Amino acid sequence: MLRIDGVYRPKTLPEALDVFTENPRLRPILGGTDVLVQLTDSGKHASLLDLSLLAELKGIRRDGQYLWIGSAETHTAISESPLIMECAPLVAKSSSIMGSPAIRNRATIGGNVANASPVAESLPTLIAHGAEIVLISPSGKRTMPVVDFHLGPGKSAIGDSEIITGFSIPVVSENFVGFYERLGSRAAVSIAKVGVALAANMYGNRFSEVRIALSAVAPRVIRSPKTERLLETHPLERNLIEEATPVLIAECTPITDFRSTREYRADMVGQLFRMGMNKILNR
Ligand SMILES: Cc1cc2nc3c(=O)[nH]c(=O)nc-3n(C[C@H](O)[C@H](O)[C@H](O)COP(=O)(O)OP(=O)(O)OC[C@H]3O[C@@H](n4cnc5c(N)ncnc54)[C@H](O)[C@@H]3O)c2cc1C
Repeated sequence: MLRIDGVYRPKTLPEALDVFTENPRLRPILGGTDVLVQLTDSGKHASLLDLSLLAELKGIRRDGQYLWIGSAETHTAISESPLIMECAPLVAKSSSIMGSPAIRNRATIGGNVANASPVAESLPTLIAHGAEIVLISPSGKRTMPVVDFHLGPGKSAIGDSEIITGFSIPVVSENFVGFYERLGSRAAVSIAKVGVALAANMYGNRFSEVRIALSAVAPRVIRSPKTERLLETHPLERNLIEEATPVLIAECTPITDFRSTREYRADMVGQLFRMGMNKILNR
């Protein structure tokens, strides 16, 4: 049963920070697609801090070489934004395939990242694009790479009374290549069993600035530095894909849980990597 003790609905960010400081046990909520399910399943009750009226958390815009996505932007808005498709295409892709149309219409990128699930759809693509997360609290604003924000299942670097305002993402160059491949048990309304995102620049057949982010193969979404280095130091040929795949698998520490076995996840991360790399090779 869903038990909500009360809901605060501040209209501005300063008001939200005041309320949050006075009531640090409030649970922030945007779309509610994680919070309300978790409260219902756990039987716990909570008072909510509804951030959905805050204009400061909305907006998709380009500031020079950076793209800004407000934390309250929904996955529908993100997946349909021509600016995001152009400047951070993998983020548009992950938002386009999460959940279902109804979920995407409510669920936000801020909620997805704050929920800190190792299978969160937006984490690998934000990390592959080198995104930073922007947080605000009464003590001020701070910024950190998204890869450092996610610490483990349900654990993040968010501080007391801190609110995620949005994400700053370097705009891709004209030499950008990349992919986001994920596996669920169905084509839709299916949480990822494994996800692989790769973003890089490509000059001829040489990669540079490779960032690979893997979801659901470790307690947190991880980079794979050995594979990145291998790709950066060899020309892209079919052999390189075969050589890099076991290196990538060795960088993972998947677990067996109700969604998949450890062995299946390790195998699938390799298959998804091969699939994405072959698309780059044959582009
Ligand atoms: C049927 C269904 C299918 C789903 N499918 C997927 C899927 O395929 N892939 C996937 O990744 N997820 C999936 N989800 C999970 C969920 O929809 C996403 O994680 C979603 O992006 C959460 O966004 P939200 O706005 O609803 O977050 P909320 O539920 O409002 O909040 C989630 C968490 O973030 C915190 N929070 C929210 N906003 C802020 C903020 N601005 N600052 C600080 N903390 C904040 C909340 O306190 C809470 O801990 C699914 C959920 C359902 C119910």
